[in-house]
This record gives sequence, structure tokens and C-alpha cells, in this order.
Amino acid sequence: MKFYKRTETRKINIGGVIIGGGTPVAVQSMTNTDTRDWKSTVKQIKQLEEAGCEIVRVSLPDMESALNAGRIKKNIKIPLVADIHFDYRIALEAIKQGVDKLRINPGNIGSKDRVEAVVKEAKSAGIPVRIGVNAGSLKSVHNYKTVSGKAKELAKSAMEHVKILEDLKFYNIAVSLKASDIATTAEAYKIFAGKRNYPLHLGITEAGSIFSGTIKSSAGLGIMLYEGLGDTIRVSLTADPVEEVKTAYLLLQDLGLRSAGIEIISCPTCSRTEADLIKIVLEMEKETSKIKELKKLKKPLKVAIMGCVVNGPGEAKDADIGIAGGKNTGVLFENGKIIGQVKPDMWVKKLVSMIKKRLGS
Ligand code: SF4
Repeated sequence: MKFYKRTETRKINIGGVIIGGGTPVAVQSMTNTDTRDWKSTVKQIKQLEEAGCEIVRVSLPDMESALNAGRIKKNIKIPLVADIHFDYRIALEAIKQGVDKLRINPGNIGSKDRVEAVVKEAKSAGIPVRIGVNAGSLKSVHNYKTVSGKAKELAKSAMEHVKILEDLKFYNIAVSLKASDIATTAEAYKIFAGKRNYPLHLGITEAGSIFSGTIKSSAGLGIMLYEGLGDTIRVSLTADPVEEVKTAYLLLQDLGLRSAGIEIISCPTCSRTEADLIKIVLEMEKETSKIKELKKLKKPLKVAIMGCVVNGPGEAKDADIGIAGGKNTGVLFENGKIIGQVKPDMWVKKLVSMIKKRLGS
């Protein structure tokens, strides 16, 4: 199937973050606070910013929350997206409050004049609209039993919403077509991308808890990203949204699309393991997550932590920094060369100090 890849999509500007046209795949998340409580919402957005979130979405279920959008916007640094269902007046208020993008399905707003009113204001504010079709709320999808039937229905629904905007000469659009199963989602995105080159917001919706949701999102988003689809992603987890951002960066890093700052290469351990590698690697993840300068690296620093001399020296040599376990010791490598030996209880301390030295921090 031929489809527009991320290098061929239109560029759109979401409050200064450009997505589409081959720009880096942007990481986004969504708050789970009550948006009427603007202070808690801002607090969570600041945590998301700290984690590297580049675009944040808040749901505006009522006018009270819409009236908070401006306050929230003033207190955060990243672009703010307003998620609105059905009520066009909330969309109009959100635009007035200065949000950077709307997520709204024009087919659900009601009469043509309501859609026109929202489009007119979005045009004059210069903000894009994301059409987000979701299998959970699209009843017709459930009339189909096959993946291809469900996917075609999702894509058809997205096209119907897109055409409403196109008929009003509005093309500042991003699109998502989410389902909770991978095959339907991937197929629906491909069908849509075969018809239009609007930038795609990828996600597997209702993916599950931090463990199962990470696996499902990685498998689903991984397939699509690897094939060249997707201009921005949200990993949906039933968890603290900060975890969504961390997962998104690691996923994009593993696909060679973005840097999460550090790539830790560690072996699965076996009877040859010469150190308490599981504990060491967890400690290493915890300690390196505190090094802010790592997040600025365009290319991740590769750190290998290996249990023995079987595969250890090869991986450690190949990394920027590495340790290969030996009898009550570890052979330390930097840039492919042996530079010394370190006892296992000092591995984390030594590696962290070497990383900080490289970063000048
Ligand atoms: Fe086992 Fe060594 Fe391989 Fe680690 S590197 S899994 S300790 S053989």
C-alpha cells in the first residue's frame, strides 16, 4: 500500500512546535488532573515539561474548565492543546483563551454554522485542529468483525471529518485514528495516509497499565514509526503521564528517531554473571535520570553494563563507556579502549562520574 510518509506530510505549527514534513517526531502527553483545578493542572504540566514533553493536551469537559485554559497557558512553557467533545461554545472559548491547538471532531459539533464559527476563529487565531477518531466512541466500527473492516471504517470516519474542514478551506489539520488493538490502528493509519498528507498523531488508545501498555504501545507505534508513519506520538498509559513521556522517548530512541539522552545496554544475566547486575542497572537508571544535561544530547550516550567476559568486552568496547564483569572486578572501557578496573560495588559511582565528566556537569 502506498502512503505518505513523515517526510512527505504537511508541516503544521502547534504553538511554535512544528510537526510534519520530516521534523523530529514530537512527544506529547495529556494531563489527568481536573482541569477546573488549574493549579494542579499547571503543576502536572510542569512535571511533564521536566520530563521532556513537547506538547500537552488538557480535556475541557465544561465551560468552567475552558475558562481556565488561559491561566494554564500563561503558567506553562509548552504548547497547550484543548480536547473538546461536542460543544462548539467550549471550542470558541478555548480559542479565546489562547490555546495552541484544538482536538475536536467537526462532525460531532452539530450544525454547519457551529462548525463554521469554530473554523473561522481557529483560522484567525492561526491554530490547527486535530481530528481524532477513536474506535471506542465510533459505534459503526463495531459492526465489523475483521481488522480490515474496522480499519476502513475508522479511516472513513476520519475522512468525513477532514472533508468538513476542507470544504471550509481549512487545511491546518492533524489526524489520529486510534483503536485499542494494534492491527486495526496500524491499518487505519495506513489507509488514511494513502489518501491525505496531513501530519499524523500516533497512539494506541486505552493501551493499559504501565507494564502492559508500554508493551502494546511499543509494538503498535513501533510498527508504524518504523514504516515511516507518524509525526507526533502519545503513549497512552493508565499511569502518571510522566511515564508516558519517558516511554515515548525510549521508544523513539530505540527506533533511531530521537534521543532520550542515554542508552543503557545490559545483558540478561546468567550463571556466568560476576556481579549483582539487576541491582546495578536499576541503580544506574535511577542515578542517570537525575542528570539533566543528558536530555540535551542529540545522540544518546551509549553505556554498556555487562555481566561477564563472554559478550561483555564486545559490547563495552562498542559503547561510549562500558564495563564487562570479571572475578570480583569489572574491566572499564571508554571509547573502545580499556582504561582500568573497578570493583562491582563501585560500578555505578564510577560510570556516573565518567558521564558527568563527559558532559562537563
Ligand atoms: Fe551471561 Fe555473560 Fe551473556 Fe551476561 S554477558 S548473559 S553474564 S554470558
